[in-house]
Amino acid sequence: MQKTFRERVISYFTNIAKKSRLLQYPCLAAMAVVLGVYYVGRHFATNVKRYAAVMFVALFFMSSCSFSFAVFAEKTGFIKAQETYSAVVEDSDVALAAQTGETDYAADDEEELTYTEQEYLDGEDTAYTLDDILENQEEYQAGDEETPASAENYTFDASDWRLVLINKQHPIPEEYDFELGTIVDSMMCDKRIISDLLAMMKAAKADGINLVIKSPYRTDSRQETNFNARIREYMGQGCSYMEAYKRTSQVITVPGASEHQVGLALDITCDIYSDLKEGFGETKAGEWLAEHSCEYGFTLRYPAGKEYITSIEYEPWHFRYVGREAATIMHDEGICLEEFWDKYL
Ligand SMILES: [Zn+2]
Repeated sequence: MQKTFRERVISYFTNIAKKSRLLQYPCLAAMAVVLGVYYVGRHFATNVKRYAAVMFVALFFMSSCSFSFAVFAEKTGFIKAQETYSAVVEDSDVALAAQTGETDYAADDEEELTYTEQEYLDGEDTAYTLDDILENQEEYQAGDEETPASAENYTFDASDWRLVLINKQHPIPEEYDFELGTIVDSMMCDKRIISDLLAMMKAAKADGINLVIKSPYRTDSRQETNFNARIREYMGQGCSYMEAYKRTSQVITVPGASEHQVGLALDITCDIYSDLKEGFGETKAGEWLAEHSCEYGFTLRYPAGKEYITSIEYEPWHFRYVGREAATIMHDEGICLEEFWDKYL
């Protein structure tokens, strides 16, 4: 009768072990390894269909789980990018409140909704002062420095490009279209806001403040690269993909939900304080911007005290173009863009 594989392995190693006592333990170990590999392999070989089915189901769930595996889902194309992003907090109370026009946001949402924006400057971003810009700027002229007489009786239109609402609940609309203009070198933003931007920088300079432009338009792929790099960083620290994604989305805006991607947001600091840190708000430049940016159509997008609405921490450097009328109202009433939408659109 033919010996089974197991019997052959055992007799082979037993024979070797008999020759020398020294070889006894190594033989025992080798035998265990060989038999272990054999049985595990045989198990998989006889259950190939079962494991293939499990793998397929797992893969399908992973790729269609929009929250945990958004990046993966987008790459494999099971669901479209926009759906991925909007799914993130679709059912949160803030989103619901925004839809129903409710302004009384529940305070207990605060802890889970306090995020910081990306503001992730890794050395490749350069900064420019007004002088740098004017030296190379021929195409655009500084706009009119006067504030409009009054924003009262102004009718706002929800389809106005200047008012487009972009946040985690409202990703960039698929049909949103805009043209980029060059501020200086490779720095770009929506070309329609450049003259107001230059006017603001000129006015600040006249008041003795040298504003510095950083990180204006950011491409979709740049935003995605930043996002994915941070996920890898967290995974490198031992986080699972799900954990890494969650942590990343708290410090970097999910791709598709950043105003930098439509060229309407600018990070602005000054020559004597160039960090994107809260302390900028207490500098002369930070105070000047908070007070006067609305005269040029810019609004402090993530004010202190509105974190429970914007989902983003106070960022005294992040300015968003909304047009002079809306910016003036937001400044005078102390409301953020989300609240403005609730009230005026
Ligand atoms: Zn920003």
